[in-house]
Amino acid sequence: MPLYLSDEDINAFSREDVSVALWAIKLHAADMAVTPALALRLIHQYLLPLIPPEHWHELKVHRAATWDGIFFIYVALGFCVTSNEDPLVEVMYAIKLIHAHTKRQPREFEFPTVIEVTEFLAICQRLNIPVQGLRLKSAHKVDPMEYCTLCWRHPLPGRKLCAHHAPNSPFQDDGREGAKGAAARYKAGMRQKKRFDLEVNRLLTTETIEHHESLFTTPILLPSQNIAQWLSSRRPQIWQLLAERQLEVTDD
Ligand SMILES: [Zn+2]
Repeated sequence: MPLYLSDEDINAFSREDVSVALWAIKLHAADMAVTPALALRLIHQYLLPLIPPEHWHELKVHRAATWDGIFFIYVALGFCVTSNEDPLVEVMYAIKLIHAHTKRQPREFEFPTVIEVTEFLAICQRLNIPVQGLRLKSAHKVDPMEYCTLCWRHPLPGRKLCAHHAPNSPFQDDGREGAKGAAARYKAGMRQKKRFDLEVNRLLTTETIEHHESLFTTPILLPSQNIAQWLSSRRPQIWQLLAERQLEVTDD
């Protein structure tokens, strides 16, 4: 698919060098399928020279290029902007345009639909806690809002299951049992999936109702201070496990 950028979109930029770069990108991509890799290459070729070298690293993507990765470049640049007049703002929006307009229906960044993540984002919005930064911190590593289908561990890169549950995990932690052990863990996880989903729902419902009834004052999100106290009252089982393993909990 080519770049669906209208003249209006491009001419709306006040920085002429940014408009010219977008024209060049549009021409360059005219008869080509714009994959994330190509989009990233064009961004590097035409937009990177327009920003100060100290921000160039924000445009590097350490894994294979993806549309989400390109969206995160836009977000990352946003953190480098010092004011609305910062010339970086226009480059930032040019990247967002490229992310959006490589589909006839503009592409929007999609947040995950896991129910607890959706509720978490809703709470953050209500409490005015910025969330994009939370994802950004680990944009190049693990997305903290992606979970294994069968548990609360993070999934393996590009997969739905974690290292513990994936039947052919490259990080098997039990060389002794090998593939057989991994398959057994996967089956056990599948057997418990219904119970797991019910438990997630139960916890979520209880906490959400409590949060609403307290007019959004209950500390249901993990605090940055006095974490030990929060864990002991709100996550007693984790607290118990830490005690059994004699692990000391500090806020750090
Ligand atoms: Zn798992």
